[in-house]
Amino acid sequence: MIVIFLGPPGAGKGTQAAHIVKKYGVPQLSTGDMLRSAVAAQTPVGAKAKAVMDAGNLVSDDIVAAIVEERIEQDDCAPGFLLDGFPRTIVQAEMLDAMLTKKERGVDVVIELRVDEEALLGRLRRRIDETLARGDKRRKDDNEDTFKYRLQVYCDQTAPLIPYYEKQGKLKAVDGMGSVEAVSAEIDVILDHFRR
Ligand code: ADP
Repeated sequence: MIVIFLGPPGAGKGTQAAHIVKKYGVPQLSTGDMLRSAVAAQTPVGAKAKAVMDAGNLVSDDIVAAIVEERIEQDDCAPGFLLDGFPRTIVQAEMLDAMLTKKERGVDVVIELRVDEEALLGRLRRRIDETLARGDKRRKDDNEDTFKYRLQVYCDQTAPLIPYYEKQGKLKAVDGMGSVEAVSAEIDVILDHFRR
């Protein structure tokens, strides 16, 4: 089962991904997390990505695709995986299709989390408050201006993936405005078809 999660920043992809990992036993491949690890480990990729990420821009397609390709070759990805934050551009989607075709695999389903943009800013403010309340440091890109910019980047560069996957007959939209449980339930209905 190869699943892609699509949705603007703050749509709840991370929360729902955790649910899918637990229920369906597939690993979550979050390119944001992988890049943040690379930055923390000060790898060459991390060094290149840091300033780009802090500004809310996208890291280059080649870098991200290489990270994903290496990751999906690992054994735990054999039964399937959940992509969270990748692909984020049409070029990345084409690169993904090419790498999966080479392995005689393919994307099963793309779940689009639909949310109201106004609500996203409220969620961001809450996420920042909660992070600070836990005593954790907030992500550099978690501030209102950068967030609005990331939303714009999503609309310009990532939203075109919606018609891309619609044409392939793989897109399933889910209402992301309900409770966490309600959204999970909608996702379950979709994924139960692909369970192996
Ligand atoms: P969120 O889910 O909060 O929108 P992510 O954690 O997925 O954010 O990503 C954070 C940052 O990491 C992005 O703003 C971007 O700079 C970089 N990034 C993550 N995934 C990709 C990708 N597929 N292509 C390019 N850049 C990416």
